[in-house]
Amino acid sequence: METKKVEYILEAIDLCKYFKAGRKQYVKAVDHVNIRMRHGETLGLVGESGCGKTTTGQTMIRLYEPTSGKILFEGQDISRLRGKELLHFKKNVQIIFQDPYASLDPRMTIGEIISEGMDVHMKLSDREKESRVNELLRKVGLNTEYANRFAHELSGRQRQRIGIARALAVEPKFIVCDEPISALDVSIQAQVVNLLMRLQKEMGLTYLFISHDLSMIQHISDRVGVMYLGSIVELAPKQPIYSVPKHPYTQALISAIPVADPEADTETGRIKLEGEVPSPLNPPGGCKFRTRCRYATERCANESPQLREVEPDHFVACHLYDN
Ligand code: SF4
Repeated sequence: METKKVEYILEAIDLCKYFKAGRKQYVKAVDHVNIRMRHGETLGLVGESGCGKTTTGQTMIRLYEPTSGKILFEGQDISRLRGKELLHFKKNVQIIFQDPYASLDPRMTIGEIISEGMDVHMKLSDREKESRVNELLRKVGLNTEYANRFAHELSGRQRQRIGIARALAVEPKFIVCDEPISALDVSIQAQVVNLLMRLQKEMGLTYLFISHDLSMIQHISDRVGVMYLGSIVELAPKQPIYSVPKHPYTQALISAIPVADPEADTETGRIKLEGEVPSPLNPPGGCKFRTRCRYATERCANESPQLREVEPDHFVACHLYDN
């Protein structure tokens, strides 16, 4: 019997993650987020720092327990899994952390770091493990001699390659790339991004790529989600997001991307975002962006806009696009 392939690899449905911040106060880091990841795609997640990108990625792979909502992996609800079943899910989803300096245990050799996940998820002999570590080192462009070294002996670029090898070690299908290049020198960022793109092609991986760097997101992503104060405000393929952004917040972010041509007038068309991001402890009622939005009306203060499909595959949460 032919088994039907599920269209989405990972789905966050109405996902919430709230952190307690006082007797009756909560930070709604992830507030009713809906994201459906397609097999083999890269979905870029952008937004200012503190908007909930990282918590969204980490909750989607159950590094954080969701407060409410559902997570489906290949069609199966994994939001409340425990024990062996949760472990099986965790083999399929991995994360590459932002800081290659802090994320590698200084007391372990590189070989031990890469094979740690194999010990949990795969039953391999020492010989098989060693050969897999060597294979992974080669895959990420490092000499196999590195297996016996320690993280402090490596450069930032090499450490992030180790972080990638560690994530790939258990043959995952889905990887959260959490600002994987922002701690690296600009001159080596492109190398790491190109490596991630090559590995994705070779291994059929799906990426949730988190970054505040819109140019990098444009380069690597198939679709882009824009977050503001814990919510997705726009989600669409990258072409319409970058050429005709719909949400006023996305419009401001895109207009602020630096222009490569030094002769160009960079101020032309730039939309200045007034004010700071409101405190996540006390976000504005109605539309959370209304305190900085040049189109805000009374309705925006009273009614929270829902994320709706306003064109095929283009979702926006803004009253300007309501019928
Ligand atoms: Fe601006 Fe209103 Fe749209 Fe929010 S709903 S982005 S305040 S126009």
